[in-house]
Amino acid sequence: MSKKYNPYDQMLATLDKAAGMMNVPDSEYNFLRYPERELKVSLPVRMDDGTVKVFEGFRIQHSSLRGPCKGGIRYHQDVDQDEVKALAAWMSLKCAVVNIPYGGAKGGIKVDPRELSVYELKNLTRRFTAAILPLIGPESDIPAPDVNTNAQIMGWIMDTYSIFMGHSVPGVVTGKPLDIGGSLGRPEATGRGVMFATREMLKKHGKKLNEITVSVQGYGNVGKTAATLLYAEGSKIVAIGDVSCSIRNKAGLNIPEINDYVAKNGVLKGYKGAGVEEVTTEELLTCECDVLVPAALENQITEKIAEKIKASYIVEGANGPTSSEADVILNKKGIIVIPDILANAGGVVVSYFEWAQNIQSLMWNEEEVNSKLENIMIKSFQEVWDTKDQYKTDMRTGAFIVAMRRLVEARKIRGVFP
Ligand code: GLU
Repeated sequence: MSKKYNPYDQMLATLDKAAGMMNVPDSEYNFLRYPERELKVSLPVRMDDGTVKVFEGFRIQHSSLRGPCKGGIRYHQDVDQDEVKALAAWMSLKCAVVNIPYGGAKGGIKVDPRELSVYELKNLTRRFTAAILPLIGPESDIPAPDVNTNAQIMGWIMDTYSIFMGHSVPGVVTGKPLDIGGSLGRPEATGRGVMFATREMLKKHGKKLNEITVSVQGYGNVGKTAATLLYAEGSKIVAIGDVSCSIRNKAGLNIPEINDYVAKNGVLKGYKGAGVEEVTTEELLTCECDVLVPAALENQITEKIAEKIKASYIVEGANGPTSSEADVILNKKGIIVIPDILANAGGVVVSYFEWAQNIQSLMWNEEEVNSKLENIMIKSFQEVWDTKDQYKTDMRTGAFIVAMRRLVEARKIRGVFP
């Protein structure tokens, strides 16, 4: 029987593989195996019917070695400590790959937010903020959106934190609404980064965005923006899927029309465009296309799915969508995977820009944000590409090596306390 999927074990497996290739002794990188701090909180919330429900939440700081801890907060019914731990570690590695001055953290609440009213969601968010208050702050740990959280939720976090501090602290959180210190370009940043990563990948093989077909799993902030920007660049989006269903059109989907439909109806289900057929998630992941963008949750590309994938490239919009076992199969098949810690780093890069604007009370225009993001994505892609060539390995291990070099060096410079 195959072992139960544990995202933290997956993170450790890649860490060890990269360390082995780099020849780093265990004592120089073993600190990366352990999160610095793990906080588990219980959150009593008064529901609309007068009853009190208690939710479970986490904030885990993996590393503050290279700067304040940084990472999103997710609301999902499957959130657990090992998942948040893995996501926190991936944040430390992600920030190191793109060389921004942050460590890594992640938070989560075990809840299906679709079952809460707006009022309940706001109370849950405020209570969670109060519970993690000892950890967060613009100089210590800065949350941001992740799965099922958005700008409004970040606004409530900023407000709650500010009330406790007695003055407005916009830099405590990123991905906020523009009116309270959010950054232009932040909502689209992760999807834009995915588009840049795809473009850079194709360039290496003399191809262009307007020559490819794409399948996108997940139609939340990341998947939707990536599909929309790729469509605008001339890519043919042949399949997309969200929690409600997956759809396909070999001739290409009309993304602007679909976006209008989703804006009105909330989900893809019920969209009936010409030539559109409903398919299963497996069919979406394994359909005929050049680029597959998994932009939903972890462990979507399993061994079974990997065997059937027909795409030539996988660009990981989600965190941890590919299992390590599946990675082996994809490598054998010659499918190039642009790993999460590089492909979806655009979000945290623009979070960094937002925070930098907040703490200096500056406001950048969108062009400035997007072009700075583009430069970082191009440079980071090239660095990972060169590293994987140098070590004759795959892009994921290459990205881990780039990140670990920086983290191990930082540890050496700072030393071990006391
Ligand atoms: N949740 C996003 C990620 O996984 C963004 C994190 C951030 O901006 O801090 O990268």
